[in-house]
Amino acid sequence: MKCPFCSSTDTKVTDSRDTDDGTSVRRRRQCLYCDRRFTTYETVEKAPLRVIKKNGAHEMFDRNKLRNGLIRACEKRSISSNQIEDIVNYVERAIRNELKQEVPTEVIGNLAMQELRKLDQVAYVRFASVYREFKDLDSFMNELENLKKSGKNNKTGELL
Ligand SMILES: [Zn+2]
Repeated sequence: MKCPFCSSTDTKVTDSRDTDDGTSVRRRRQCLYCDRRFTTYETVEKAPLRVIKKNGAHEMFDRNKLRNGLIRACEKRSISSNQIEDIVNYVERAIRNELKQEVPTEVIGNLAMQELRKLDQVAYVRFASVYREFKDLDSFMNELENLKKSGKNNKTGELL
């Protein structure tokens, strides 16, 4: 860290402490060349991740919201909290890896659905019915048909 007075790069930290709210570290530094002191703050870089809803509205990505949706879909199914947390982590990692700051809700829903589908088809259909907002019974039944077909070679297919 360069000294702001003489630009020397020879400085030392004389004190380091968390700020009251714990979101940053405050450091007192001393220039070894001119002896003057200055303060630096270190904070975590938070890349905001926003979700674009179907109606075009933007809101902050909310892990809790996704988790709650999954929990609701998994009610009375044998899916552990850890498995749900894994899905939430997977989805968040996947969208952050894209380095996009705005993601349509559909993308989030689809990622979560893919993962859920591997675990439990009933939970998957429940979740899909909320996320895809099936407009009518037909589109819902189509989804079920697709599942049945794809489930023929799959033991969990008997759930439907
Ligand atoms: Zn200096």
